[in-house]
Amino acid sequence: MESFQYEAEAEGPGLFRVKSWMDRYPQLTLGMTSRIGGKSREPFGTLNCGLHVGDLPADVTANRTAVAQALNSDLDHWVYGEQVHGSTVALVGPTDRGRGTRERETELRATDAFITNTPGIVLAALFADCVPLYFFDPVTGSIGLAHAGWKGTAACIAAKTIEAMEHEFGSSPSDIQAAIGPSIGKCCYEVDDGVIGPIREALAGPDGDLCGEESDRYYTAIGSGKYKLDLQQVNRQIMIKAGIFPASIEVTGRCTSCTTDLLYSYRREGGQTGRMQAWIGLKPSGRPSSEGYEGSC
Ligand SMILES: [Zn+2]
Repeated sequence: MESFQYEAEAEGPGLFRVKSWMDRYPQLTLGMTSRIGGKSREPFGTLNCGLHVGDLPADVTANRTAVAQALNSDLDHWVYGEQVHGSTVALVGPTDRGRGTRERETELRATDAFITNTPGIVLAALFADCVPLYFFDPVTGSIGLAHAGWKGTAACIAAKTIEAMEHEFGSSPSDIQAAIGPSIGKCCYEVDDGVIGPIREALAGPDGDLCGEESDRYYTAIGSGKYKLDLQQVNRQIMIKAGIFPASIEVTGRCTSCTTDLLYSYRREGGQTGRMQAWIGLKPSGRPSSEGYEGSC
């Protein structure tokens, strides 16, 4: 069954939620926005959450605010990073609340992944083909979110996020749950040798070998030095190499490029389009509602 289920609001943002996690982990909020139910005009129509794509900042802020409100959250408790296709993992704490929510100047600098164990904070990252990676350790009560394009994937940003959770929170990879969200799929993601080389290095085992038969699971040669690459499966394998159990990883079947009625695709739309936002947060249980979430949600 598809992990990321689409929920359309009658009036408001359409959101993808991970139902199995919502049932199992009521202390969490996580998901990904669609392109439906916002204020932005074409070519950003309509729920663009990216401040960096040329859209009107007021529309982006309105969209982000509407998403936070739909989750009974307050945008002032969200945190955004400046995404640079790197592999730096930032530790987010209480003083980071609100960074990057309304202006780019306060985003966490050069940050494609972040982790926190602070209840009430919501980590958010922006996507339009790259792969959102979600992490939750129910034992230490810590979370992580990473933005993995091919460069971040090849730089093992998934493993670096897991290592950061081990280092900062004492997490054991065998306890960590992970989810891999909508991104461009193998059906549509064509790359060349310059991409496949680093991806092979990231996948290689201790013996440095990746046998040809296995590689087809991750990429398929289509001739003339071109390949179809499955970034979702590559990231899943890197998580498993880092110690996460295969059964603890949810993987979407959704391709952004195949689904531009619901999702933005940078490639499919020629680079001029909006961004979805992935989010994950620990609800502030036992805290006053003014700390973040209101009501029972
Ligand atoms: Zn596709």
